[in-house]
Amino acid sequence: MSQPAARVLSSGMRLPPLPTIRELVKLYKLQAMKQLSQNFLMDERLTDKIVKSAGRIDSNDIVLEVGPGPGGITRSILRRQPQRLMLVEKDQRFGETLQLLRECAAPLNIQLDIYHEDILRFNIEQHVPDTTQRLHLIGNLPFAISTRLLINWYADLAARRGAFRRNDTCMTLTFQKEVAERICAPLASEQRCRLSVMSQIWTQPVLKFIIPGKAFVPKPQVDVGVVKLIPLKQPKTQLPFSLVERVVRHIFSMRQKYCRRGYSNLLPPEEREEHTHLLFERADVKDTLRPFELSVEECLRLATVYAEHVAAYPEVAKYDYRAPK
Ligand code: SAM
Repeated sequence: MSQPAARVLSSGMRLPPLPTIRELVKLYKLQAMKQLSQNFLMDERLTDKIVKSAGRIDSNDIVLEVGPGPGGITRSILRRQPQRLMLVEKDQRFGETLQLLRECAAPLNIQLDIYHEDILRFNIEQHVPDTTQRLHLIGNLPFAISTRLLINWYADLAARRGAFRRNDTCMTLTFQKEVAERICAPLASEQRCRLSVMSQIWTQPVLKFIIPGKAFVPKPQVDVGVVKLIPLKQPKTQLPFSLVERVVRHIFSMRQKYCRRGYSNLLPPEEREEHTHLLFERADVKDTLRPFELSVEECLRLATVYAEHVAAYPEVAKYDYRAPK
């Protein structure tokens, strides 16, 4: 094993000497598990760059890292010295390597809490009961759950709950490059999809940089994009999240067709044609645009008129065009 190097912190303090991540993975035989989408980042310059993308981290802030694995990004976060670092890692095998980092954090007065839990079930409010401290969400996300996690977080953001009780909780996360590009895709771009609109209703997403697949161990099939998602101070809608999600999902369910096609499936067949036409008129949206040509505002106007329609005809809310006849 090579001689561990002490790392200088921004404040001039040092992280105690530690074996490299590569050495720890070898030492503890931490082979990556495909079913947990494990791809490790060993390059400290890249982990530092991810954490730098999160912006300023103050000594009073809390950082929650999703899936720290052997702890590469965790080390970069520790070097920024938040008040508290919460690690949510499903795989118990990383217990010892994370424990090692907890020992390094203690003399720096950083509270490091390790939770061996599933981030999709993790109750942030229970572990951070008050909102006096700013929270940063950071993670090299497991590909298998990244979109689901993001949609869950948008639901929390819309309801101002969980990690989003304050309006300044930013997310700095990795995605497969194509997904990262879709999240940020502007109006009329080829990549624009449901995830672009959902992301841009509640946040301002910024594609920070691309990490080539070869930087990970094992190397994934794809490159990876680092995205910072900044919650909008003024949300673009007050409509319930589930209603907006339903409308946007239907609009984009037929990407290549006119947007009225997917939208019309929100309505039962007997009223479909007549009411689709009326709702587009009321929303002042051209029904022959393709879904990717619709602005966030147009999607939200379509959601608003649908909400009004459902208020007038409550049984329509239960209609599911995919349900068995
Ligand atoms: N942060 C490490 C790095 O950059 O080298 C590991 C990143 S790896 C892509 C994803 C990590 O998320 C793994 O450590 C995996 O065990 C963990 N993970 C997978 N599913 C999870 C879940 N549902 N909740 C919490 N952690 C999860």
